[in-house]
Amino acid sequence: MRAPLIAMDGPAGAGKSTVARILASKTGLAVLDTGAMYRCVALAASQAGIKATDVQALAKLAGQISIEFQGDDRRIVILDSIDVTSTIRTLEVGQLASKISENPAVRRVLVAQQQSVIEDGGYILEGRDVTTVVAPHADVLVFLTASIEERARRRWAEVKEQPEAPTLPMVVKDVVARDYRDYSRLDSPLMLAENAVIIESFGLTPDQVAQRIESLLPARPR
Ligand code: C5P
Repeated sequence: MRAPLIAMDGPAGAGKSTVARILASKTGLAVLDTGAMYRCVALAASQAGIKATDVQALAKLAGQISIEFQGDDRRIVILDSIDVTSTIRTLEVGQLASKISENPAVRRVLVAQQQSVIEDGGYILEGRDVTTVVAPHADVLVFLTASIEERARRRWAEVKEQPEAPTLPMVVKDVVARDYRDYSRLDSPLMLAENAVIIESFGLTPDQVAQRIESLLPARPR
């Protein structure tokens, strides 16, 4: 019997990462942050001087780079042997990742890698297409969301200590632009999977959201 899989999609700042970490510590499942993989391609592209419009070069790059997750909670992101955990979290890298994620050839490369990682189960996946494309067969499918104001406020709290930190209005603009691209792109747009449970996180603590998701896991034979 395959180990459990939980797939969680939702727009930027919905709280997916925080909830995934809590769930990981409660269930012992590992986290696969698929957004970090798009961010790694974006960072590698900007370092190599490849433009977001250069479809072929980006797909080639996505297949060549090595992305690893380390640490107990898989939070440390290693791109070609370098720790990029905080470098990939800037607004600029996020915007570039969002543009690059419109490229079907890049998506094909990353989705294949993600599906190979989760083949035997045992993962909590978070992203924009994990309930619809990467793991529609997961045991639990969740669409986690919150209002734009709430999501922007959360994202701002994450980035406000960075050097040259953006202002709250800049973060609102960033989240709106990424939402637009994520919902409207032709290949694998962010959308509600048929069997997904919608969780609106406003008024709930991350612990409560995690508890709700854990309760959706089917009981396993002992
Ligand atoms: O989740 P995170 O904000 O780190 O993702 C960065 C960007 O990568 C998103 O704005 C989205 O455009 C893209 N992405 C995607 N598919 C995923 C995960 C992220 O297109 N499964």
